[in-house]
Amino acid sequence: MFAALLVSSLQVIPLGVHETDVVVIGGGAAGLFCAIEAGKRGRKVVVLEHAERIGKKIAISGGGRCNFTNLNTSPDNFISDNPHFCKSALARYTPADFVSLVEKHAIPYHEKKLGQLFCDGSSRSIIEMLLTEASEAGVEIRCGSLVRSVKQSEPPADRGPRPGSPAGVGVAGGHARRAFEVKTDTGTFVSQSLVVATGGLSIPPLGATDFGYRLARQFGLTIREPWPALVPFTLSRETLRELAPLSGVSLDASVSCQGTLFRENILITHRGLSGPAILQTSSYWRPGLSVTISLLPDYDALRLVREQENKELTLANFLSQFLPRRFAQAWCALNFPSQPLKRYTPGEVTGIAQGLNNWEVVPPGTEGYKKAEVTAGGIATDELSSQTMAVKSVPGLYFIGEVVDVTGQLGGYNFQWAWASGYAAGQDV
Ligand SMILES: Cc1cc2nc3c(=O)[nH]c(=O)nc-3n(C[C@H](O)[C@H](O)[C@H](O)COP(=O)(O)OP(=O)(O)OC[C@H]3O[C@@H](n4cnc5c(N)ncnc54)[C@H](O)[C@@H]3O)c2cc1C
Repeated sequence: MFAALLVSSLQVIPLGVHETDVVVIGGGAAGLFCAIEAGKRGRKVVVLEHAERIGKKIAISGGGRCNFTNLNTSPDNFISDNPHFCKSALARYTPADFVSLVEKHAIPYHEKKLGQLFCDGSSRSIIEMLLTEASEAGVEIRCGSLVRSVKQSEPPADRGPRPGSPAGVGVAGGHARRAFEVKTDTGTFVSQSLVVATGGLSIPPLGATDFGYRLARQFGLTIREPWPALVPFTLSRETLRELAPLSGVSLDASVSCQGTLFRENILITHRGLSGPAILQTSSYWRPGLSVTISLLPDYDALRLVREQENKELTLANFLSQFLPRRFAQAWCALNFPSQPLKRYTPGEVTGIAQGLNNWEVVPPGTEGYKKAEVTAGGIATDELSSQTMAVKSVPGLYFIGEVVDVTGQLGGYNFQWAWASGYAAGQDV
């Protein structure tokens, strides 16, 4: 009856219509976690992943060791048009819950800094843990399944409820949901619930697509325009002339944009600025805005310079006591040509101090989605229930993970959001 598609010499997948309770589009952190939770509740779940394997971002995350959560997770670590939206899901599935799961699977881990938990070994162990959990929960994972289209059908015929079905699903005379028909190259999947976990636009070679946003638009949902976040800044040609030769040099600094300040390292690259403090700040930056860098975050630069102002010591040599020498020289070349400190006028001393504590840089841009660790913006949270991630206007439709307008700071928060939002939807589908 079913046509058959030869996928490889060993595997024949029937083309046809497959009925299931839940279809999850996207086999990343959020999609897999939701599928596991739904499977544990007895729901029949199919995960459709268009790449040849699941969890590609998990594999490369945290430099290959997956910073899988952060012990200090709080709603303040997330950027969203509605900062309250993430609270409910984060409260119901906490870092401690995920740590218990990691411990259940005997995966060794450690706290690197600031509550960031990393695997001692490879990120692969987190993927294997998710695959084991999915298999135990009876989840079917179909890789190589490119979703072509989604539409809603008429409510299914009177078939009576499945055990554990949400009230009314498939019940004649009840408040029946319209089923979803998800067309892929390998067949059509019909389900009562559809979970969109297709992630953001970052790093296209790892499988990122705009499918989630397109689907949201198809259902008339509002999207907060996405932007690349946790991404290095580029610098102007003139600034790079001095700084690019220092590529690889890093320094402790505090960096702020739009009132949010991060104290960590910044790293000079051959294209601009990176390092944790810069990546964090990039999520708050929008084109045209400046970024303020304090190169002497522990000092009052004015006092420091004034203490030396009658000396023969040059500005570059003076700054080399606090900053990498080559950086001190480059910074002077860009801002205040170095000369003996005693030759600067009082006004220039004030300007130098101001520049050291509040160096204003206007980045021409970022390195974009090619290098961004996450995508900020996404499905407007107004459209979703914060308890379940269900779309308020379309019963049975859910958005979870990075595709939603909730973006974590650097440090394991994005995975915690993926687990927590996946868990919330997994209890409801
Ligand atoms: C280099 C890098 C390092 C990172 N390190 C960390 C870290 O250490 N800690 C941390 O918390 N966060 C980290 N992140 C961020 C984190 O990986 C993401 O926020 C998280 O993976 C989002 O999970 P998700 O399931 O929403 O999306 P994703 O993990 O992106 O999963 C989406 C899935 O959907 C699939 N898909 C897309 N479109 C379709 C379609 N049309 N049909 C079928 N499938 C589709 C994709 O192939 C993908 O598998 C890192 C990100 C990057 C890029």
